Amino acid sequence: MKTAEVIVDIGHSEVDKIFEYSAIDGVKEGCRVRVPFGRKVIDGYVMRLKEGSEIDPARLKPVAEVVDEALTPECLRLAEHLAARYHCPKAIVLRLFLPAEMRRGAVHARYTRLVEIGAPAEIPARAKAQAAAYAWVQEKGACDYTRLCERFGRGAVNALLEKGALSERKERAFRRPYEGAEGNFVPRPLTPSQQEVIEKIGASEKTVQLLHGVTGSGKTEVYLNLIAAALAAGRSAIFLVPEISLTPQMLSQLRARFGRQAAILHSGLSAGEKFDEWQRLRMGEAKIAIGARSAVFAPVENVGVIVIDEEHDGSYSSEQNPRYNTAEVALMRAQYNGCKLILGSATPSVETYRKAVEGEYELLELPERINRRPMPEIEMADMRREVRRGNDSAFSSALREELEKCLQSGNQAIIFLNRRGFAQSVVCRECGAVVKCAQCDVPLTYHSEEGCLKCHYCGTSYRMLTACPECGGVHLSYRGTGTQKVVGELKKLFPAARILRMDVDTTGGKEGHFRILKKFAAHEADILVGTQMVAKGHDFPSVTLVGILDADMSLHFSDYRSGERTFQLVTQVAGRCGRAEEKGIVILQTYDPENYILRFAAHYDYKGFFRHEIELRKATAFPPFARIVRVMVVGEEEKKALEVLKEVYFSLKELFDANRGEFLFFNKMKSPVKMIQNKFRYQVLMRLKSDALLPQIYDRSLGKKTRDVNVYVEEDPANLS
Ligand code: ADP
Ligand code: ZN
Repeated sequence: MKTAEVIVDIGHSEVDKIFEYSAIDGVKEGCRVRVPFGRKVIDGYVMRLKEGSEIDPARLKPVAEVVDEALTPECLRLAEHLAARYHCPKAIVLRLFLPAEMRRGAVHARYTRLVEIGAPAEIPARAKAQAAAYAWVQEKGACDYTRLCERFGRGAVNALLEKGALSERKERAFRRPYEGAEGNFVPRPLTPSQQEVIEKIGASEKTVQLLHGVTGSGKTEVYLNLIAAALAAGRSAIFLVPEISLTPQMLSQLRARFGRQAAILHSGLSAGEKFDEWQRLRMGEAKIAIGARSAVFAPVENVGVIVIDEEHDGSYSSEQNPRYNTAEVALMRAQYNGCKLILGSATPSVETYRKAVEGEYELLELPERINRRPMPEIEMADMRREVRRGNDSAFSSALREELEKCLQSGNQAIIFLNRRGFAQSVVCRECGAVVKCAQCDVPLTYHSEEGCLKCHYCGTSYRMLTACPECGGVHLSYRGTGTQKVVGELKKLFPAARILRMDVDTTGGKEGHFRILKKFAAHEADILVGTQMVAKGHDFPSVTLVGILDADMSLHFSDYRSGERTFQLVTQVAGRCGRAEEKGIVILQTYDPENYILRFAAHYDYKGFFRHEIELRKATAFPPFARIVRVMVVGEEEKKALEVLKEVYFSLKELFDANRGEFLFFNKMKSPVKMIQNKFRYQVLMRLKSDALLPQIYDRSLGKKTRDVNVYVEEDPANLS
């Protein structure tokens, strides 16, 4: 008799071990099963099957039920690997591999009832409806039961079924997201540079390939060709994009080209759609998993290529436990499957590019746009001069002129604001206090449309204030520029222009940003105003003008990556324009026109930027020359959080004292954002020369977690707030 080694679906470290059960019929490795546990029956996963057991057979309980074969052998090995790598209970890691709704049993497969011709039987002459229904099925073949009833009456159809003249079967019906997004696939020859890149990838011995190509150089076409080649070889593919890049154009391209072979996994889908797309991949009905970060766990087998588009994007590092790095997981899968991992970007992260120039990754370049279209010219507008001239609007005179020209010629424009968080905070003019969220310690943002104040960390909304909560003063003023204010100004400047706004507020709900982008793509608006999400990946041929309102904002963050981020942002937003026949122009507004980051960006000089940045990182010992590790201690009660912090700190301090040479920095402190959703946030921040102590840091920190106080470890966090 076989024994099943089971991980039960409970996320506590106390039960993070193998439990043995005797196998019943149908139990296989990778199965989701129901097992008796204590007085309950709960879900578990079969990690291994083995002969016999050390445990007394009389005490070994049998598996209660087999649910399904959810996990592939690769998933099981990957889960073990990740659990060890991120010091995370296996049950929690395994949850990454299934849609959440499926675990809770909240979604089920949907079936359609089909009826078809059955055994010969007599249909009485007076039963006209029966005869008609029978003839219909005879002519059409298998029909949907409900539709047939609608047409000929339930009585007639049921009578035919009863006497066996019609027979019935169930067929799996898949709910499909973005139905109707199909476009027409026009095959087109690759350009010689695209061809060359593909050949080099084929010839390369390295697993990881970095495709560094300017915006509009045709990287997407390269990815699609590699995916098609994997499919032709009988293998599958994983194609990861930042969430926001799952645009109507991208989807219709993929649908047109790959049809039902493509499955889409992302958070905007309904539970049923997600479940069905996942199942189509698991059953091998679909072969290409397309999605944001979490699609790296897609249940495809025999993977032939993995693509990570816009590899520099911050959304690829997870902000939930386990805090995995998507490229790292993708690399494990590429190695397991013996396939290539393609990282693509116009602005690769400094860490990635360094690995490429040092030879760890293959470096491939597409330095020119398709058809040698010129890159849009980036012109700086010195906002200090504008202010001196008495212009206190959000728009420089240069940008206003270009907007006018653009609208007159019937083209489209994108206006980019750096971050809505800086929009319109409320300041007391008497005591200088900034009005903050009571639960999160971050400034509230004024929303003029709803006439309220909102916290962008927790979403709480507050009524407008009439007096300062600190001093009671009644002279409150608004500071900064928000998307709404910009739209208001634009409406005054260009009353005839059709304007769309896209930020986190407008894009809520299923397929929210999808709709806005679709509208803009269909040229149902002239100007798109938005934050970060307008910067990424979109391909709108009629956009000839991009205005960057506040290029400096992200330069002033106290984060070592702020220069890199700014360079990426400017390059990416600029890349949205001049993609078709007409030339594009970018107006970059700044209070700091001499800034070297902006200068490199304005000249599309990635290599210059990289050389400068890497020297700086080396001189200051920041990643990739060091590793930043942050241990977060988060709890509702400040006292308890502080107690845990103390324990974590002392344990890590021992490590620090014994290995001083490894540390460049070590200290405990409040987090920059001291509170989020009523939880106090403390941290121990470290900068390390290597990864040698990482396992010990995880062990010493995570062990201090309590029921009320959470502890987690972040490596080179994308966000230090
Ligand atoms: P990137 O992903 O590098 O920003 P895209 O793949 O979006 O660039 O390509 C930019 C534009 O060039 C798109 O409009 C695309 O349709 C077009 N394009 C790409 N490859 C080819 C090709 N081989 N022939 C003609 N047009 C192409
Ligand atoms: Zn809040």
